[in-house]
Parts: sequence; structure tokens; C-alpha cells
Amino acid sequence: MKNEAEWDAVVVGAGAGGAAAAYGLCQRDMSVLLLDAGPQFNPIVDYPLTESDWEAHEFPEKPGSAASITFAPGQKLTGAEPLLVSGSRGVGPLVTSGTRWMEKYYHVRGIGGTTLHFTGESHRMHPDAMKMQSRFGVAADWPIDYAELEPFYIRAEELVGVAGPASQGARWRSRGFPLPAHPLSYAARTLGRGAAALGLDWQANSRAALSRVWNGRPPCNYCGGCNNGCPRGDKGSADVTFIPAALATGRCVIRADSPVIRIEAGAGDRVTGVLVGHADGTIERIATTHLILACGAVETPRLLLASDALANESGEVGRNFMDTLDVMVGALHPDPQHARRGLPSDAISWDFNAPDAIPGVIGGCRIYNASGESELKGLAGFALRAVPGWGRTHAQSVRRWWGHSLHVGGIGESLPNRNSRVDLDPDQRDRFGIPLARISAWLDEPDIARLRFMAAKSRELLAASGAVDIFETYTSWDWFGASHVFGTCRMGADSASSVANADGRSHRWRNLWIADGSVFPSSGGGEAPSLTIHALALRTAERIGKDD
Ligand SMILES: Cc1cc2nc3c(=O)[nH]c(=O)nc-3n(C[C@H](O)[C@H](O)[C@H](O)COP(=O)(O)OP(=O)(O)OC[C@H]3O[C@@H](n4cnc5c(N)ncnc54)[C@H](O)[C@@H]3O)c2cc1C
Ligand code: SF4
Repeated sequence: MKNEAEWDAVVVGAGAGGAAAAYGLCQRDMSVLLLDAGPQFNPIVDYPLTESDWEAHEFPEKPGSAASITFAPGQKLTGAEPLLVSGSRGVGPLVTSGTRWMEKYYHVRGIGGTTLHFTGESHRMHPDAMKMQSRFGVAADWPIDYAELEPFYIRAEELVGVAGPASQGARWRSRGFPLPAHPLSYAARTLGRGAAALGLDWQANSRAALSRVWNGRPPCNYCGGCNNGCPRGDKGSADVTFIPAALATGRCVIRADSPVIRIEAGAGDRVTGVLVGHADGTIERIATTHLILACGAVETPRLLLASDALANESGEVGRNFMDTLDVMVGALHPDPQHARRGLPSDAISWDFNAPDAIPGVIGGCRIYNASGESELKGLAGFALRAVPGWGRTHAQSVRRWWGHSLHVGGIGESLPNRNSRVDLDPDQRDRFGIPLARISAWLDEPDIARLRFMAAKSRELLAASGAVDIFETYTSWDWFGASHVFGTCRMGADSASSVANADGRSHRWRNLWIADGSVFPSSGGGEAPSLTIHALALRTAERIGKDD
């Protein structure tokens, strides 16, 4: 057991937020113990992309690399819905029950967290999307503004090695991206011609994938497998960026397979430590001066609620859960598009990203090249999803169309509502007896209107690009498969309606901090969240211990 004086800070969770927080604290000469519930991954043996049967593998597969989570019943799907029911031509609709299918919260437990699985889009928030309540009367305002976060965005982009274009409109920058943007893939250029015909902006996406050597890491080879773990180490996941940088200071110790099962509160206004469960069933107590929670927007509220509802004076822990509002449309093009090669999500349109950019509905979205969606998942997936039939005819169709698919996707603002939350499952527990997290997710009419807009715009862009034959549409209208999750310990100026203050500190406990996606008061209009999580965590790390 460690003595109280041994750690200035214990960080729980080694994903996007926890790794950045640990790094930031080490930079300030603090001693840090970084605990993660999941395993340490070894790319050589744990990432499938180097194996000939990679298509047959999901990611992650390593034992212990996913949490057990339960779901409240899905929302009933009502009305004559103009969104196509999710499904591909080859496999048909996935949802036939009349209720939203609560399939999965896509995440990774382990050193690097969900960034091991992520695509690596690297976005700053639209400044107006941080003021949704005061500007547009929905969600909640961030207690800080874009200018406050900008220096931390710069630090995070430098460490991660973000490659991006010269400018991104409303997201002003005090310094350019550290790396030049990647060249657009063939499919992105086809879609760019469609965008031009529609008068849409179409530009290189900012990507946490190296366009040249950076900090000893090699550039991307455009294999396209980012969601299966990048074996090359150029994708800016936390395990190859913040964690080695934290370790290099000599002030950080990392422990995998170390789930925190309870937070211990002191008599006054401080927490005193955590209980960690071990594989052999024993429990270890670790004391700390500061405790930083970064378990993600599902597991952080779970841990707090399971610790006698710690930090829940407002009743907002677990509330305001925002999931991933997304649309994906796939089509075949008469000409080869080589969509099985290239960097996923390499091009984007920000035209509808401002909160008031979609006609008739508050909350923005982005539209992007998702061409890798079927083809980069491999020939087997393409054959199953894109072309129907069996036997010889099917084989001929696959040969005819392999390499011809285009995908356009949209991700939009997910507004909080009182039906969407994370709470403790009343019946199911983990091996240490801690109740599992239970997700309830609900879409209100504005969310559905945003989905309709994204689906229509995606189809319009595909048609303008010359695609002739839509073979699949997936939307989160009928399918919950969230990858971006937020809001369950929102930060705010008012302690009655938020869990943490503008610095990420609990309103109630002076040495308890939150540094992950839970603190977002609003989701943004489709911005990928990790860069903002990094920036917030670095900012929180700057403040810890300053006014004890
Ligand atoms: C397929 C996919 C694609 C994505 N693409 C992008 C993208 O392109 N760009 C982008 O910005 N984002 C993307 N995301 C989302 C992004 O990965 C997450 O938003 C981000 O990783 C969340 O950071 P976090 O710190 O909140 O949580 P996580 O990164 O999930 O980290 C939480 C960590 O806490 C640990 N933990 C949980 N409970 C405990 C406990 N009790 N004790 C100890 N440790 C615990 C977990 O093991 C985990 O390692 C994607 C996600 C997925 C699944
Ligand atoms: S496309 Fe680049 S970043 Fe993605 S897995 Fe391949 S090498 Fe890594």
C-alpha cells in the first residue's frame, strides 16, 4: 500500500482525458499514479491489422478490454419516418422491433482508452457551440469560452501531431497545425467535385495521423485501418502520445488491470483515496492528495454513483447523457473509387456546423467522407453489405463493384434531455459487487430533424458526385451504437445545475477533479471530441493544487 504522501495525484482512467491530465500534472513536477481498469496493449500481438485474417477480428478483443454495460429499453420508433431503417442491401434492416436497438457503447478499456479504437479525427469546438443556452436557448453554456481553451488546443495538437489545413473558419487559431494536411484520397476528390457542384465547402479534415515524421513516430502509410488499432504508431492515440511523454518525466507510474471500485470521502471537503480491485479478489486502498476521474462519460458517473453518490449534490451526476447522432449512407459509383485505400475521414464539410446553420433546427452537424466505411473493413464486409445475391452471380457482382463504393456520413449535435442518462443497474453487478452502468438514451424531435437533414444532405452529395445506387443507410435514429459520449458530469458556473466547475473541480470536494468527456455541457455540432477532452484535461491539470 502507498502512503498518503507518495502520490500528489491519482488519475483514474488512461484514455483521452486521463493520459493528458497525467502528462499535464507531471509537467508541473507532481508525482502521478495513473490507474486503468483495462490491460496494456501490445500492438504486435493485439492489433489485428498485421494478420492475414484481420477482417475476421473485432477490435478490441483482448480480455478485459471492454466494460459490461446494460441498457434501458430502447425508444419506441413512431410515425412515418422518412429515415430509412438501418441496414444494408446484403443483410437487410437490422432493426425490425419497432424500438431503437440499444446495441453498444463502443469503447476500449486499457492503457490509451478509447483512443486505441478511434479514427483520429482531431477537431476543436465551434466557438458558438459552447454557448448553446445563452445564444440558442438549449442545452447549457460552457463556463469557459473558446479563447480560454485555445492555448490548450495548441499544446494538445503539438503533442499528438495533428495534420490539418491552413484554416478552419470560425475555429480561429493562434498558430497553424503542427503538420501539413494529408493529400485527399481519390474518393474524397470525387466527393469534392460533388460538393463543388452543390456549392459546399470541402476541405482536408484535421487528423491525428502523421503526415510526416513527428516526435520519433513514422508517417501514416494510408492503410486505412485506424479503427482496428494502428500498428504503426502514427495515429495519435494516447498510448503513443501523452503516456510516453508523461513517463519520460520520470514522475508517472502506470498500472493496468487496476479498476477503481470506490472513492473514499474524508470528513471535510476532501476525498482521501480510492479502492482498487485486483484479479485475485483482493482490494487495495491507495491514498492521494488529489484525485482525477477520467473513466469516460459512462464509467465516471458510475463510479461516483457507486461511491454513495459522491459529488452528486446537484443530482446531475449521470444526467444530460449525449450520445452520437450520426448518419452513414453508402452508394456505388460507375467508376472505380479506390475507396479501400487511404486515410478514413480525410475530407469534411463544415458548412452546417454552426448551431444555427441547419435550416429550421438548432444544433449543427458536419458532413464528411466516410468512404472507408465498407471497403476499408475488407472485402468480406463489402461483399456482404454492398451487393445482394448468392453463388456465382454474387461473386460476379462483387468483382464488378469492389472498389466502386462511396460513403458519406454526418455527425450532429446531440442535445441533452431528461430521459437520457447513465445510472446504476438495479440488478446487475461486476465481480466486485459494484452495480453496472445502465444507459438510457432518447432522441427528441430536433435530433430526429437533424438526422433527416444529414441523411438528405449525404444522399445529395453522393448523387452530385455521380454515385448511382445507394445500398445502405445507417442512422442513430433506430440504432444506438455510440462512440462519442458526453455530458454526465457537466461543468458549469452554477453548482445547482452542474457537477464540476470551470476547472473540472467538483463543486463539493476540493481535491476531486473530472477530466474526460463527462464534463461537456453540450456536444458540439459533430466535432470529434478527443482533442477538446485533451485540451480540457491539460487545463484542469494546470489548476490542480494551485489554490488548496
Ligand atoms: C470507433 C470509434 C471511433 C472514434 N473516432 C474518433 C475520432 O475520430 N476522433 C475523436 O476525437 N474521437 C473519436 N472517438 C471517440 C473518442 O475515442 C472518445 O471520445 C475518447 O476516447 C473519450 O475519452 P475519455 O477520456 O472520456 O474516455 P476513454 O478514452 O474511454 O478512457 C476512459 C478510460 O477509463 C478507464 N476506466 C473506466 N472505468 C475505470 C475504473 N473504474 N477504474 C480505472 N479505470 C477505469 C477505461 O479503461 C478507459 O481506458 C471514437 C470512438 C470510437 C469507439
Ligand atoms: S491509416 Fe495511418 S493512422 Fe490509420 S492505421 Fe493506417 S497507418 Fe495508422
